[in-house]
Amino acid sequence: MVEATPIRFFESRPDDGVLMDRFDRQLTYLRISVTDRCNMRCDYCRPASDSYKAEAHDQVIRYEEIERIARIAAQMGVSKLRITGGEPLVRRDLPDLIEKLASIDGIKDISMTTNATLLGKYAQTLADAGLDRINVSLDSLNPLRFRKLTGGELAPVLAGIQAARDAGLGPIKINTVLMRGINAGDEHSEVAELIDFAIAEQATIRFIELMPMKQGMDWDKHYIGIDEVLSRDDVAQRVKVESALQTGNSAARYLSLKNGQGEVGFIMPMSERFCEGCNRLRLTADGGLRSCLPDDDQLNLRDVIRSGGSDHDIRAVFFRSALIKPEVGTYKFDADDEKRSMISIGG
Ligand code: SAM
Repeated sequence: MVEATPIRFFESRPDDGVLMDRFDRQLTYLRISVTDRCNMRCDYCRPASDSYKAEAHDQVIRYEEIERIARIAAQMGVSKLRITGGEPLVRRDLPDLIEKLASIDGIKDISMTTNATLLGKYAQTLADAGLDRINVSLDSLNPLRFRKLTGGELAPVLAGIQAARDAGLGPIKINTVLMRGINAGDEHSEVAELIDFAIAEQATIRFIELMPMKQGMDWDKHYIGIDEVLSRDDVAQRVKVESALQTGNSAARYLSLKNGQGEVGFIMPMSERFCEGCNRLRLTADGGLRSCLPDDDQLNLRDVIRSGGSDHDIRAVFFRSALIKPEVGTYKFDADDEKRSMISIGG
């Protein structure tokens, strides 16, 4: 059901304005979740796997709807798109969507976040279609641990990273969620090994603090802060812990590697807010336009489009989303709704 009030409220707004929020941040980056389905079942990303019900196919936003939304977003100053999910590569004909998005005036960069299992098959086609870069989620280099955590196999992920490099989808970033007792803390830590792996792969690794999801992984048990991770000897041997953390629009802060071969990123949604440079909006797989990852206040662009909304109506939803974007995102520990899980929003 379309909420008409905010749209009327913005009727006087010029159609050619760029998206500024109330804190003087221009919103230039749209993350698009193309599906809430995934071929993995990471404990930290989806609610207890058997209870999660993916959206019915007809509720998922269609490619032509995404293309229209992206075109309008580009007219409002959005220049960067990221395709995410669920696992984006389980949606059929994704290269066709990439090709359409790449042809939109004003779109300068298209990236994708993926678990890489299907990249061996699709990397070259995606690159040919206009995909610029990928981020790969990789939480463990131990095949057994990897299978236990994700329900999937490590070997195709490693092959996918290789295929992406061969296809020129770089610079490749690797995202690792830190989980005490699984890949971080005491004898479980794979942090140093993952840094070495990234160096060997000429990729940049970013470690992410675990965000809470009530129905997913037990946050109290598995959360570990970046400070504790950096205090380990094997990490301090590799990373210039004293080097200033660099900032920018990125959610990550970067520290230099001691060997001079690049940097390691840290994304700290829990221990340090990284919102001051936030330039993002998110389109969820069912068409919701979200201005902040943990903030549930969103209007649904799929509904606006399917009820005959004009381009002006779509712009109005974008303006409203910019207007309500909070200065700082707040992660709630009591979020009970499985639609708030990362697999549904698109992390
Ligand atoms: N399937 C793709 C993948 O595996 O990269 C894209 C979707 S996944 C939801 C996007 C990112 O969200 C991944 O890097 C994942 O590690 C991260 N993520 C999911 N749940 C998280 C949580 N509870 N805390 C921190 N990061 C999380």
